[in-house]
Amino acid sequence: MVVVGIGVVPELELYRQTGLQLDAGVLANQFLETNIPDVWAVGDICQYEDVLFGKRRRIEHWDNAKSQGEHAARAMLGRREPFIHVPYFFSDVFDLSWEFWGDTEEADRVLYRGDLGRGGISAWWLRGDQVHAAFVMNRPDEERRAAPLLIAHGTPINAECIANMEIPPARWTPAQNCETGPSLA
Ligand SMILES: Cc1cc2nc3c(=O)[nH]c(=O)nc-3n(C[C@H](O)[C@H](O)[C@H](O)COP(=O)(O)OP(=O)(O)OC[C@H]3O[C@@H](n4cnc5c(N)ncnc54)[C@H](O)[C@@H]3O)c2cc1C
Repeated sequence: MVVVGIGVVPELELYRQTGLQLDAGVLANQFLETNIPDVWAVGDICQYEDVLFGKRRRIEHWDNAKSQGEHAARAMLGRREPFIHVPYFFSDVFDLSWEFWGDTEEADRVLYRGDLGRGGISAWWLRGDQVHAAFVMNRPDEERRAAPLLIAHGTPINAECIANMEIPPARWTPAQNCETGPSLA
């Protein structure tokens, strides 16, 4: 038997009589503020303006709920800043552990690194020369660390470097010649 759970629909009934603007969740701006002063929305229920990707979105993951909760708490204490956060989730199944950052929707290609047959692979979704999303499973920590930074900063990279296992993310610079890149050995 296979049980598949793909996404949830938030229960908005509670809010219908409150005056809060609703859509696929409780609508919030980039500061996580709702249309009612001093009311913030966070977590699975929050449909906020993501300034990194320039779209409104709702995220159903633990890291988002925690980060937005912390952000809204700071705002309540007077630090009003936009919520700028690379969407992220992790999961573990038996000896497999994987993480995902970003948004694949606007990407125009996907490149791979590693070997699924050997248990470790990462996938990198690009638009032009910028990383929009990354999936990393049983790969070196430097790939995990690089993924959210490359996405958040929109760092231009030489995409050919991704397939060259000798070149770590820190050297995926446009100037890098990946055909003849120096060995790290
Ligand atoms: C089976 C499952 C597996 C998951 N696995 C992962 C994973 O591997 N990685 C990951 O990142 N995320 C995972 N998630 C998602 C993650 O759990 C959620 O994104 C996160 O819990 C959202 O936090 P939240 O505070 O927004 O909402 P919730 O955690 O749902 O908290 C909402 C709270 O409000 C309470 N509540 C509801 N209605 C009322 C009411 N009328 N009055 C008072 N209280 C009320 C509820 O009881 C609940 O405690 C998983 C979720 C599920 C269901």
